Amino acid sequence: MLAAMLAMVWSGPGLAQSGLGVQARVLEEGSALTASRDAITLRLALSQPVPFRVRMLANPPRLVVDANTLDWGAAGLGADRARQGPVGAVRMGHLPDGWARMVVDLTAPFALRRSEQRVSEETGRAVIHLDLQRVALEEFERLAQSEAEFASRTSPALLHPDAPALPPTGNAERKPLVMLDPGHGGIDPGAERGGVREADLVLDFARELREVLLRRGVFEVGMTRNADDFVSLDGRIRAARAAGADLLLSLHADALPEGIATGTVVYLLGDEASDDSAAYLAERHDRADLLAGVDLSRNTDEIARVLMSVAWQDTAPRARALADALVAGMGAADIRLHRRPVQSGAFTVLRAVDMPSALIELGFMSSPRDLANLQDSTWRQRMAESIADGLEIWHREDLAQQALRRH
Ligand SMILES: [Zn+2]
Repeated sequence: MLAAMLAMVWSGPGLAQSGLGVQARVLEEGSALTASRDAITLRLALSQPVPFRVRMLANPPRLVVDANTLDWGAAGLGADRARQGPVGAVRMGHLPDGWARMVVDLTAPFALRRSEQRVSEETGRAVIHLDLQRVALEEFERLAQSEAEFASRTSPALLHPDAPALPPTGNAERKPLVMLDPGHGGIDPGAERGGVREADLVLDFARELREVLLRRGVFEVGMTRNADDFVSLDGRIRAARAAGADLLLSLHADALPEGIATGTVVYLLGDEASDDSAAYLAERHDRADLLAGVDLSRNTDEIARVLMSVAWQDTAPRARALADALVAGMGAADIRLHRRPVQSGAFTVLRAVDMPSALIELGFMSSPRDLANLQDSTWRQRMAESIADGLEIWHREDLAQQALRRH
């Protein structure tokens, strides 16, 4: 029996994330359970890859999918789904050990023909795809596992309609993870004025902001760099994904050519620069990558592709709301803002399609007043608190918006 067991455990980069308390979510869009008389297909679209295993159980026939640390979210595959052909009830829940389980009752014998998980390099999202085909009873019984054997090795939860359903674990306590991205570093010092380097200023500020956020206890915090290291712009996005970040905040304090207004600006991704400064800053940040030998020849195409993608239609309003909330938090703390505090440009570091991101120019080192603020610990503390306020405002609104979208 065991030799014929149809099981597959995926292991890869996703495994490393399970230790961080970051949970993959089932995404409603792209997830479906469809069935005809002879074929059943289950597609689970996931926010990130997960280890999973698939079993067929006999007496009665059932499909059991277990996945590590997965939030079923609004999967829409459950009780309200119309029953189709050989598919009976579907039960979803969580096991005491942190695994999530889906049990699909079948009214006929089926065998697993395909079981795979594909991960999109572009978005970091994954799709688990299972194909089942109707088979003769003898073949099914040869392939399927007995429930007693299965239950002796794992939890019996959800295997029957009356098996206790466990409350979802983890997700309620899961804190969103903010990825802080101190700009520049290593061979790229960023702007420099009077012996002060942007790379150092923003790293110090990121550490202070991390302290404020952790002290408040609402967010987990990651950093794309925590030393004077060069990290490519794509490397920063990859670091955010690897940590399972919910949003990315890139922190800068660039210098602008003389005569340009000052004050804090929050930048979002856009195909056209909102003004000359935005174009200048986006180009300048790319230049550091080019100097480090990173190939950015396809960058414009990549950004255009992100802006056209379906996923971006979800992410763009969330990023806009993030920028508005940050500006509201800063405004309430009397931080002096640029006359157009939310702007956009083709910033490579903001092109993650799967999480909202924003780039904050805390101030401009080219402005003596901004530079003095950036070096003033009292001002920096006020700025950090105001960003934390903005993030908390955004998080509350974002949760409410996501709940609305599910209904
Ligand atoms: Zn910068």
